[in-house]
Order: sequence, then C-alpha cells, then structure tokens
Amino acid sequence: MTIRIEASAAAPGVAIGPAWRYPRRPTQEETAAEHDRQRSSRGAVRPKLTKAQSVAAVTDAAHRAADQLTALADRLSEAGRGDDAGIFGAQAMMATDTALLDEAIRRVRAGMDPVEAVAESATAAAEMLAAVDDELLSARSADIRDVGARIGRILRGEQPELPERPSIAVADDLPPSVTAEIPAGFLLGVALAGGSRTSHAVILARGLGIPAVVGAAGLLEAVDAATDAAVAAGSPAPFAIAVDGSRGEILLEPSDEDIGIFRGRADELAKRTRRAAALRDRPGATADGERVALVANIGTPDDAPRALEAGAEGVGLFRTEFLYMTRLTPPTEHEQMLAYRRVMTAFGPDRPVVIRLADVGGDKGIPYLGRPAEADPFLGGRATRLADRPHDLMRRQLRAIWQAGALAEVTPHAMAPMVATVSDVKLLLQLRDEARDDLRSKKLPCAGKMVTGIMVETPSAAIIAAELAQMVDFFSIGTNDLTQYLMAADRGNASLSSLQDALHPSVLRTIAGVVRDADSAGIPVAVCGELAGDPAGALILVGLGVDELSADAGSLDGIRAALAAVTRAELDGLSTRALASVDAESVRAIVAPYLARLAD
Ligand code: PEP
Ligand code: MG
Repeated sequence: MTIRIEASAAAPGVAIGPAWRYPRRPTQEETAAEHDRQRSSRGAVRPKLTKAQSVAAVTDAAHRAADQLTALADRLSEAGRGDDAGIFGAQAMMATDTALLDEAIRRVRAGMDPVEAVAESATAAAEMLAAVDDELLSARSADIRDVGARIGRILRGEQPELPERPSIAVADDLPPSVTAEIPAGFLLGVALAGGSRTSHAVILARGLGIPAVVGAAGLLEAVDAATDAAVAAGSPAPFAIAVDGSRGEILLEPSDEDIGIFRGRADELAKRTRRAAALRDRPGATADGERVALVANIGTPDDAPRALEAGAEGVGLFRTEFLYMTRLTPPTEHEQMLAYRRVMTAFGPDRPVVIRLADVGGDKGIPYLGRPAEADPFLGGRATRLADRPHDLMRRQLRAIWQAGALAEVTPHAMAPMVATVSDVKLLLQLRDEARDDLRSKKLPCAGKMVTGIMVETPSAAIIAAELAQMVDFFSIGTNDLTQYLMAADRGNASLSSLQDALHPSVLRTIAGVVRDADSAGIPVAVCGELAGDPAGALILVGLGVDELSADAGSLDGIRAALAAVTRAELDGLSTRALASVDAESVRAIVAPYLARLAD
C-alpha cells in the first residue's frame, strides 16, 4: 500500500528508485556482535595502548581524515565541481582544528578511549554551533559531526557505507562526505527526516541536479516499518520510493499509477529546464525587450562560480554573515578583504557585487558579541543597530570593502540591512567616509568611490523611503523581513506560514510606494528577498517597476524564462490587478495564466 509523506521541497526534480537507508539499521545479530566487539576492543585497546600511543593514534587518524578530505576536494575540483570541493576543503581543516583535535587529545589524556574521545569532542563542537539558532550554522555543525565520524571510522579501521545500486537515500541527515563519495549515478534522490535547504548534503544534491526533500516527519519510522514488513513477507529487496523535490512529496511503495504521475512530472520538468537553460546567454528582459537585471544571492565566495554559470549579471546580495558565524572570535579585516576580493575578481568590473554588511544579532546570535539574551531577537539588537559596538563591526567591514575594491580594481558596492531611521543611514555614511579617510591617511589600498545602498526591509524604512532615497545610491527590498514585520508574523514560525506570503497585497502596496519614492529620487530599486526568485513574484515585482531581481543561482533560469514570456504592457496590467487584490491567493490566481505559458 502506498504511503504518502509530506516534506519540504529542497532541490527540484523527481526521482523513483529503491530506498537506501543511511545509516543501515543493524540486524539483531550484528547489534550483539558489535556489543561483543566493543567489549573486547576496549579490553584490547586499553591495556595495549599507552596514553601517548592513544594520543598518537588520534592525531594520526585526524591527519589521515584531513588527507582523505583534501583528496576528495581535489577530485571534485578536477571534475569541475569547485563549490562542492570547497565544502571538503573546509572539512579537511576542521579535522585537525583545535576545537576537535586538541579537545579529543585532552579527553584521551584524561583516560578516555580514542574513539569515544573523538566522538565526544565532535559532538561538543557541533552542539556549540547548533546552539546558535541559525540554519547556516547548523549546516556547519553537521560538517563537524561528519568529520568526527570519519576520524572514528579510521580509528576503527572501517570503510564508509555506500549504496550498492542506484538508489534514493533515506536518512535523518546525510553526512556531506557520504553524499560526495557515493559513486556517480548511484544517488537518484535524497529524502531526509531532518535537514534543511541549507544543509550541505542538500546543497550538494542541488548542485548535482539531484532532487531532495527535507523535514519529512515520520519518514524513518515508515521506511523501517515497510522494510520490516518486506522482510517478514520474505522479500529482502529494498522497496521503491518516489521523491518530488519541487513539491516536497514522498511516496513509499508507489502504485503503477503514482509512478506514471511522477514520471509525467519529471518529463515536464526536464522540458522546462531545457527551455529555460537555453536562455542563459541572454540578459534578463521581457518579451518586448525591456531589460531587468538578474543577479544572484550568494552566501559565501564558493557560491560565485555557480552564480556565474547560471548567467548572473552580478551579485545583488552577498550575505556576509558566514564570515562571522562559524567562529569564536570576529574575523579580521584582512580575512574579510580576501573573501570580498575573491568574489569581486570572479565577477569583474562590469558585474557589480553588492556586499551586504553583516546582518548579525537577532536570530543570528553570535557568542563573541557578548549580547544579552533578548525576548524578541527579531525586534532587538540586529545588524545596523550594532554598527559601532561592540568590536566596531561595521567600521572594520567597510574598511575591508574599500580595500577589496581597490585590490580587485572594481567599484565596491555595499548596503546596510535593517535600516529604520535617517540616523541609521547617517551613521552608515559617516562610518563609510571615516573608513576611507583613515585608509587614505595611512596610504593603504582604498577604492575611489563606494556605491552605497540600503535594504528596505523594515516598515519604517518603507514609509520614509522618500527621505532615505535622497541619501543613498540604491535600494534593495528585503521581502523576507519586510513581510515578517508588516504581517507581524515571525519568519521562523512554521505555524504562521500563511501570513508569511510576500505576495500579500499589503506587502505589494508597500513595495509600490518604495518604487515610486526611489523613482522620484532617481535611484534604482532591486528586490533580494525570496519573492524575487519565485516566477510569480518576479512578474509582479517587475510590473511594479522594480529594476533588478536578485535570487539564488538555481532560481535565475526560472525567472528569466517567466519574464521572457510576457510584455511590459501585460506586466502593467498584472501589477494593477495585484495591487487591487485583497489576499495573496487572489494574486497567485491572477499570475497563474502567465506562468502557464511556460508549460506550453
Ligand atoms: C530579506 O530580509 O528579504 C533578505 C534578503 O535578507 P535576509 O533573508 O538575509 O534577512
Ligand atoms: Mg533581511
């Protein structure tokens, strides 16, 4: 009987194949044998290995893990998968990092078994990162667990588990190195009970064009029960599972009819993807040739090649928080400069890279900021509100951007998040100019000018947009936060998802006002929230007069194709009707016929 499980869509596409459970559930006999093995290995290791030998074993295993990971990174790099290679380059560093290795050695010196010492140290480091309530950080936390598991396997002399046939991986969360080591063609899809769109296994899957779903509550229990039933019925072969990574759907043991439906969706998707990718060389434009710049949102310098490959005409949002979050002390100016310069150099002088000043604090709490806990972090000390305290975060970041621009020989672009007042902007401009003057007085590299903008993502900024537009070079509307603040619905609260729809007319009418004020001041307006990457949102936004859309690399083909199928006059009509609507559902219904053209 088919079991249907709801999940969150994480990487588009449809796959059908045998389920491969990771980690494999041990049989009862294996559990008993492992128990015996652990007892005897404890007995064997302890008397045989002195503390010094145990320290040497852990150190050696950590370095071997680092070597394996470096080799994996090199292989991926040679295969033209530079972004994925970056994940394992970072893991290689973690393997011998003090947080993991020194801690494990400390535990071994205190008398702990080497395997346990590594596992405990990895868990402690991972939990520390996971405690900072942030998706990006929990992804790093999964990396540390993955590295710890690898060192543990080396100490125990084991090989990693890999599927024996092309399969769909079913797991709580799939370690990234397992994902990368699965031989080409053996990973058809990924279905995770946990995970998130930003876990590395999912990023890897997306990069490889493999469909993935995450957050599938009850998945593992259902798969285990189905496996037990199959074994009881004398059928040891794994059963089939179907995954729709575009809709967030899983079917266990799909019927022939279900398989037919999923195959149909796969064919339709393949057709659309081929058609959309064929437009990549063309800049973003409507059917009648009105230009709309299509630029990318990136999170780290490693995202730059994928964005370029997707035809990004620049970077509209470089979220720089990654530099601040996976560490225990603030990043140095030099470190920041290198990261910014790398992206600026990759995009060159004609494709601007907008560096968003660190949006830290709020839900992206950082231990070294030493901030007190706040009852409502989203309404608390966040981003620009932390500009000149503590650690001079904004001043240092602006200095790094001035220098990176000079060294990459481009005009640097920067924007401040969470602006609410005229004094927020005055402080931004003051710190920007002080940073420039200081660099010049010290004869350090410094660009000639910095194009400076702000994110419009608080209701206050939208309401005083006319005044703010006089002070800056551009606006970029952050629809994710703007929606949460306008609708008074915490963007992280899954139970409020119906209120978090940025197509709600109250959000659209606010955007229309911001565009009007920006036009009057003669400055361009971009949108860099998720709405820009949604084809329905893209059409409405361009209809409202937005000049530039900034979205994940994976969304650019879809919005380029949607725009190429409509004329300016149609978009005008569309946005007028959307503004007159009363809810997000009506807006979606108004756009649907235009999107349906893409299916023809
Ligand atoms: C936004 O708020 O829309 C935005 C793009 O910024 P972030 O999602 O990083 O808060
Ligand atoms: Mg925001």
